[in-house]
Amino acid sequence: MTAQIIDGKKIAHDLKEDLRKEISSLKAQGINPGLAVILVGDDPASQKYVASKEKTCEKLSIASFHYGLPATTTQKELGELIDRLNVDKKVSGILLQLPLPKGLNEKEAIRRISPEKDVDGLGPLSLGKLVLDEPGFISCTPHGVMKMLEACNIDPAGKHAVVVGRSVLVGKPLSLLLLRKNATVTICHSKTANLREICASADILCVAVGRAKMITADMIRKGAVVIDVGINVSPDGRITGDVDFETAKEKAAYISPVPGGVGPMTIAMLMYNTVIAAKMQSGI
Ligand code: NAP
Repeated sequence: MTAQIIDGKKIAHDLKEDLRKEISSLKAQGINPGLAVILVGDDPASQKYVASKEKTCEKLSIASFHYGLPATTTQKELGELIDRLNVDKKVSGILLQLPLPKGLNEKEAIRRISPEKDVDGLGPLSLGKLVLDEPGFISCTPHGVMKMLEACNIDPAGKHAVVVGRSVLVGKPLSLLLLRKNATVTICHSKTANLREICASADILCVAVGRAKMITADMIRKGAVVIDVGINVSPDGRITGDVDFETAKEKAAYISPVPGGVGPMTIAMLMYNTVIAAKMQSGI
């Protein structure tokens, strides 16, 4: 069996096309979505991600406001910028690019973002709403994964979904979203015993670890859906996922590639959340 490749680029493109139409109709009503992007320090990977998010804003006619701060920025200075953006009417959403340089407290900074502008869905209110199954901002990567499954008509109900990774950014919210869709969810992490066996029992296997090719074909059930969230940069600069794609695709029924899988979906969902924020703030 050779798996069907889940084309994240195409799914994200379609999503952005729908958003483009919605944004144009919002603009006709005087509603202008805007995203403030805060980048602290000069981490090259973060600079690349931010540039790509800002480029997508431009393509969709979402105003983007770039705040590049030096790595020496204090918690107080960062907090004061967030406070200003919280009350800035042109800003519908605030994205704080992570990780922050050493010495800055990420949780404290995220908590400072107004819940109405928490388009990354990482604040306590957004995460609390996710647990409570209430509507709210859903963090972009897990939301993107769910949209990918939906686009492929993969219904998680009754399936065994295994999520490898338990970060607040990906693993935990993704597990909750799969649970919301009635999957039976197993969450694995660095202390999990029998990782191989658990992965091999998954109908849907989602991997968000950050270890190149750690999931090999023998860890995949024949006919499984494999979603690779990992992004790893090899010494020669190539980007690879957490799954050994070449061997895994011979075993899975569906597989998302890296690059071109979850990455584009993450950016599309950030745009989606920014549009929702703009609508909410305008009372529609
Ligand atoms: P993270 O915060 O470092 O979390 C990694 C998780 O993997 C942790 O829960 C950790 O377990 C677990 N883990 C580590 N080694 C393991 C092992 N040997 N076996 C099983 N589990 C193990 O990373 P993250 O922010 O969730 O990101 C994960 C990956 O996704 C990274 O490659 C990141 O670049 C990528 N990512 C991609 C996108 C995208 O848009 N495509 C977005 C976000 C992240 P413990 O909790 O026990 O330490």
